Amino acid sequence: MKILLVEDEPKTGDYIKQGLAEAGFVVDLARDGVDGLHLGETGDHDLAILDVMLPRLDGWQLLAGLRRSGREMPVLFLTARDQIEDRVKGLELGADDYLVKPFAFAELLARVRTLLRRGGRGKESEQMLVADLELDLMRRRVTRGGQRIDLTAKEFALLELLLRRRGEVLPRSLIASQIWDMNFDSDTNVIEVAMRRLRAKMDDGFEPKLIRTIRGMGYVLEDDTK
Ligand code: CA
Repeated sequence: MKILLVEDEPKTGDYIKQGLAEAGFVVDLARDGVDGLHLGETGDHDLAILDVMLPRLDGWQLLAGLRRSGREMPVLFLTARDQIEDRVKGLELGADDYLVKPFAFAELLARVRTLLRRGGRGKESEQMLVADLELDLMRRRVTRGGQRIDLTAKEFALLELLLRRRGEVLPRSLIASQIWDMNFDSDTNVIEVAMRRLRAKMDDGFEPKLIRTIRGMGYVLEDDTK
């Protein structure tokens, strides 16, 4: 996994680069926006970590440049200013996450791993696995314990979402907007019905159970025997 890091504060940059290298990542470090954009356009990075306040091009301009060049990697912004305007602006430009300085390195590493697990938009792996459940994105096929499971398109999309965000509790409102392209309406039980059908197909008769309901919060898919 290769990470683009653009940070102009020498100590911070070196510290993050070293920590990520020790965690097994390959890191390209640039000290200003122009060099960062050049590295990002020519390298094949799985993730970018961009400081907002940078010389020559700021983090926003750098992100816009990367997207213009067709670079689709997830982007984590580092910002010294915990301001809502920054977050809104960044989200509009396609940032995926934020970390406010100062932060603990463990927190940065956790965010990086989460973003990478969700998968770069440009280069997703074809198979997703949890326990003995396998979802093949290209062939649109699901098996559990080697047994073929027939899902409707909606059920497949639901399972794909849960797998992409495995270990995270997904609120019903998020599921509604991602899968049904609708705003959450408390009168509708369409999500519960679909979830019940999905679980009947892929959890009934199998161990461990992978999908859990978190009362009052939403749903999570994980192998909690691990
Ligand atoms: Ca800076």
